[in-house]
Amino acid sequence: MAKILRGKDVADALCAKLCARVDKLWDKGVMPTLALVRVGENPSDLSYEAGILKRAERIGVAVRRVILPETAEKAAIFSAIDMLNADDAVHGVLLFRPLPPHLKADGEAIFSRLDPKKDVDGMTPLSRAGVYSGGDLGYPPCTPAACLEILDHYGYACEGKRAVVIGRSAVVGRPLAMMLLARSATVTVCHSKTADLAAVCREADLLVSAAGRLRLLGADFVRPGQTVLDVSTNWDESKPNAKGGLGAFAGDADFDALEPIVDAITPVPGGVGAVTTTVLMKRVIEAAEDGGAHA
Ligand code: NAP
Repeated sequence: MAKILRGKDVADALCAKLCARVDKLWDKGVMPTLALVRVGENPSDLSYEAGILKRAERIGVAVRRVILPETAEKAAIFSAIDMLNADDAVHGVLLFRPLPPHLKADGEAIFSRLDPKKDVDGMTPLSRAGVYSGGDLGYPPCTPAACLEILDHYGYACEGKRAVVIGRSAVVGRPLAMMLLARSATVTVCHSKTADLAAVCREADLLVSAAGRLRLLGADFVRPGQTVLDVSTNWDESKPNAKGGLGAFAGDADFDALEPIVDAITPVPGGVGAVTTTVLMKRVIEAAEDGGAHA
């Protein structure tokens, strides 16, 4: 039976430390403030937003929401970002991604518009450069940072380990691979064209899946001794939910098949996602503390 790496325990420990830092900011008259920019009503954005609001309230971070219609054009997003860049009371800005399809070609221009010192989710070129150079520029995206928080909380040392990351997106897979490399893991990045994915995964000591594919990882992908972080949040129509019906979030891993084999595994929900919002709060607090010195 695997050790279950519970995100809630990691988030609770982090929250306690963050509340003390917020108290100090309040004593100085600083209210750490996060602005959310959402385009449209994508259900996964709404679910993430609800989690952020709950976590921010618990820690004492103020949240402002800027909501634009699904059909919003680049100019409207630019002006929302410009307004938040100019507002000294806003320390961090999170733009929900992916943007609607009609904005895909403008993604880079939109991401680059944000003041890097307010970029608490690693979307600007400067933050990305920081991740790839292994330096201290900007902030890495929150989700890969949440993976490292989980490993740290449970005392997992990456040095010398063989890490396999499934997914090469700019938000999760690529930055996580770089962050694991910075911790001296030997990293393999897999994607939809990887040949014999199961065999590559079995070679891992640390297996991280961010493919967004329900039941991608079966028992044949793992072996005893492995630690598995399941980043993905897929909707599973057949999974029993808390209300006694069917339909619930699930990861890439077939949890029931993997759990008896591996050493440790994160559940979905209640794993990486539970830590991501707390890492976001940590970033906003850092940005409020150092007044942008990080960028
Ligand atoms: P994405 O942009 O769609 O990227 C998915 C990656 O997985 C791509 O690199 C893709 O390969 C690869 N992939 C897809 N199917 C595969 C397969 N069958 N075998 C191997 N690789 C495959 O997704 P994302 O934004 O990185 O998010 C990934 C998942 O994490 C989603 O479920 C998302 O909801 C979840 N997520 C969770 C959190 C959290 O806090 N827990 C935060 C962000 C995202 P190609 O590049 O070849 O297409």
